[in-house]
Amino acid sequence: CKIDYVAPADLLADRIILVTGAGDGIGRAAALAFARHGATVILLGRTIAKLEKVYDEIEAAGGPQPAIFPLNFEGATHKDYHDMAETLDREFGRLDGILHNAGLLGRITPFEQYNPELWEQVMQVNFNGPIWMTQALLPLLQASPDASVVFTSSSVGRKGRAFWGAYAVSKFATEGFMEVLADEVEHLGTLRVNSLNPGATRTAMRVNAYPAEDPNTLRTPEAIMPTYLWLMGPESKGHNGERFDAQPPR
Ligand code: NDP
Repeated sequence: CKIDYVAPADLLADRIILVTGAGDGIGRAAALAFARHGATVILLGRTIAKLEKVYDEIEAAGGPQPAIFPLNFEGATHKDYHDMAETLDREFGRLDGILHNAGLLGRITPFEQYNPELWEQVMQVNFNGPIWMTQALLPLLQASPDASVVFTSSSVGRKGRAFWGAYAVSKFATEGFMEVLADEVEHLGTLRVNSLNPGATRTAMRVNAYPAEDPNTLRTPEAIMPTYLWLMGPESKGHNGERFDAQPPR
């Protein structure tokens, strides 16, 4: 946990970083924070209006001009991921980071009552879509001298909890895949793959999961950015295949 990390203003200068689910919650805060520290951010998400707002905020703050990439992990195909890689290759020629942040909660419900279509949908958005997108983008990550891939996990992706269903399983799968890919790229020395558990954070998803909780007792997405910045920046070089937490346990 690097919650006390203070990132230099130019930490991510000249880096090209893709953020999924960049229109809201933690992804929005990460896109703004990365841009504020010099990164050219590619804003990926399913709701274009939200991405446009983040785009405008970055421009208004004087950050490097971002790019918008509309994509819905639910319907996206392998072809979409390869087309995306082609477009990004043409525009940028490389990728220095991916923050896999887009996520779907599904339902908190006993497995006995879990709807199979919803289960598939959660696995698609939280796990299958992101890993196939990563496969298509690997050549671009390998073209970077120092690239960082960060997968977003959760405490229920490290210890299973009743009723968390597909969400928990998708996060376990994410942690496992992170280790597999990290081991495969270790020899490159220029690409690292880690996972990050944001911890309880004041967003729409958290309100959905814990409707009775007072959101004001939780850290905001902005407050947990130090660990995100550290993992994207050069100071985390050498860390590969590790599990991080963005805030101390409550
Ligand atoms: P939010 O629900 O606030 O934001 C999720 C983002 O993912 C939104 O921008 C959403 O887009 C996007 N998204 C959802 N479905 C899709 C899809 N099918 N295709 C593309 N984008 C999609 O959640 P948080 O910010 O809270 O969560 C961010 C990450 O952190 C998630 O991976 C979550 O599992 C994880 N996490 C969060 C915790 C918390 O306490 N908040 C705790 C532990 C983990 P749109 O805005 O269009 O809906």
